[in-house]
Amino acid sequence: MTYSAKLGLYIDGEWLSGDGRDTHSVLNPATGAGQADLPLATAADLDRALAAAQKGFEAWRAVTPEQRAALLNKTAALVRERADTIARIATMEEGKPVAEAKGEVMAAAAMLEFHAGEAVRVYGRVLMRAPGMRSMVLHHPVGPVAAFCAWNFPALNVVRKIAPAVAAGCSIILKPSEETPGSAVEIMRCFQDAGLPGNVAQIVFGVPDVLSRHMLASPVTRKLSFTGSVPVGKHLMKLASDSVMRMTMELGGHAPVLVFDDCDLEKTLDILVTHKFRNAGQVCVAPTRFHVQETIYEKFVQGFAERTKKMQIGSGLDAASQMGPLANPRRPDTIAALVEDARASGARVLAGGEREAKDGGFFFQPTVIADIPLEAKAMNDEPFGPLALIRPFGTVEDAIAEANRLPFGLAAYCFTESGRRQNLLAETVEAGMLAINQVRMTWPDAPFGGMKESGFGSEDGPEGIMAHLTTKAVHIA
Ligand code: NAD
Repeated sequence: MTYSAKLGLYIDGEWLSGDGRDTHSVLNPATGAGQADLPLATAADLDRALAAAQKGFEAWRAVTPEQRAALLNKTAALVRERADTIARIATMEEGKPVAEAKGEVMAAAAMLEFHAGEAVRVYGRVLMRAPGMRSMVLHHPVGPVAAFCAWNFPALNVVRKIAPAVAAGCSIILKPSEETPGSAVEIMRCFQDAGLPGNVAQIVFGVPDVLSRHMLASPVTRKLSFTGSVPVGKHLMKLASDSVMRMTMELGGHAPVLVFDDCDLEKTLDILVTHKFRNAGQVCVAPTRFHVQETIYEKFVQGFAERTKKMQIGSGLDAASQMGPLANPRRPDTIAALVEDARASGARVLAGGEREAKDGGFFFQPTVIADIPLEAKAMNDEPFGPLALIRPFGTVEDAIAEANRLPFGLAAYCFTESGRRQNLLAETVEAGMLAINQVRMTWPDAPFGGMKESGFGSEDGPEGIMAHLTTKAVHIA
C-alpha cells in the first residue's frame, strides 16, 4: 500500500512545495522507512501566511454565521466521503490500527457538524437598566489564531483547532505535527473543496521552535492554541505572553483510575484493557495509574495481565492488529527506560515489558506493571505509551489523595456502584474530565480540557467556540 497524501504547505489558497525549501522525511512507524518528503516553510512563507491570515480574518468575520455553518457541514460531508483514504494515511504515518483511524476521522466529521451548529448559536446579553438605558454584552471573533497540534490524533486534533476558529469567524494558521502531515493536508483539501477561502485556514510545517517563535512574535496573531506536552506548552505560553494573546492549552496528563471493590470486575477489566492500549497508550487521557482497592487487587492484576497477553500487535494496516507500533523512534526508547526504572525499583512486570522486533517498526509490547512504587519515574512522568501501572489502596481518602498527587489534572476514571462515592469523587478529584463506570470522554458537545498543569481553555462544546470570541460590554442611554 502506498502513502497517498499529496504533501505541501497551504498558504493563501496555494499548495506549495519544492523551490529549494528544506524537507522532512515522513516515516512509516510500522517499518521505520521513509515514505514521503514534507516541504518546510521559509520565513518568507510564514510572512505571506500571516499577511493572508489578517486579510482572511477581516473578510471572514463579515460572513454570516449561516454561511460559516454551511461551509463546515459541507466540509464534514467531504471528510465522511474520503474517510477510508484519510484513515489509511493516518495509519501509515501514526501507526494506529486502521479501524481506530477510521473512527477518529468519523469523530472529526461529527466535530465539524457540531461546530456548524455552534456558529449560529453565539448569544450576547441585554441588561435592562432605567427606562431607555441598556447594557449589552457582545462577542466578536478574537482574530487570527496560531495553532500547533500533536501527532497522536492526526485528523481529530486538526479539526479541533480549525473548526471552532472558522465557526467563530476567526482565521487560523495551523502547524500540525511534521511526523503526521498527511491527514492534516487531506482534511485541509476538504475545507478547500467545500469552498473555504484560502486565507481563512492555512497549513504550514517547519522546525517547530523556529516556526512558533516567528508566528507568536507577529502582531497579526491574536490567539495561541496548542495541543502537546506540558514543557512545550509552558514554553509557548512564555512566548505568547509578550503580546498578551488569548490561549487554549491542551497539555499532557497522567490519568488515575480508581477501582473500588463494588464494581463489576470482569466488565471493568474488559473496558480498561481495551481503552489502555488504544493508540498504543499515546493518548493524553489514557488511563495510566490504576489504583485498585486492596480487597480485589490481586484478582484485578491477574485479570489485566491475562487479557493483555492475548493482544495482537502488528501493522495498523493488518485488520487482525489490536495495537500498532508507537508513533516515532523516540517513544520505544522512552518506554523501555521507564520499564527498566520500574524493574529496578522492585515492581513486578506481569506482561510485555520489551520492544518487539518486527519489520523494523517502532513496536513495544503492551505492558502491565504491578506493585510499582510511587517514586518510580513512570508514576510521575507521563509515559505516553502502552504501560499499565497498578497499585493497591485501602480507603477512599487514600485513593483521592493519590489521584490528586501529581501536578497534572486532565482526565480521571473511577469504577464504583456507590452513588455516594461517585458524588464524592466528582467533587474532589482534580481533573478536567472524570469518567465513571465507562471510559468515553470525547463528545462534540462536551468540554474537553484540563486543570492544573494539564492546561486551560476547553476545546469542544460551546466552550470551544467561546474560546475564540472576545467579550465587550456596551452601555447605552
Ligand atoms: P513534544 O512535546 O516534543 O511534541 C509534541 C508536539 O508539539 C509535536 O507535534 C511537535 O511538533 C509540537 N512542538 C514541539 N515543540 C514545539 C514548539 N517549540 N513550537 C510549536 N510546536 C512544538 O513531544 P513528543 O516527543 O513528540 O511527544 C511526547 C510527549 O508529548 C508526551 O510526553 C506527551 O505529554 C505529549 N503529547 C501530548 C499530547 C496531548 O494530546 N496532550 C499529544 C501528543 C503528545
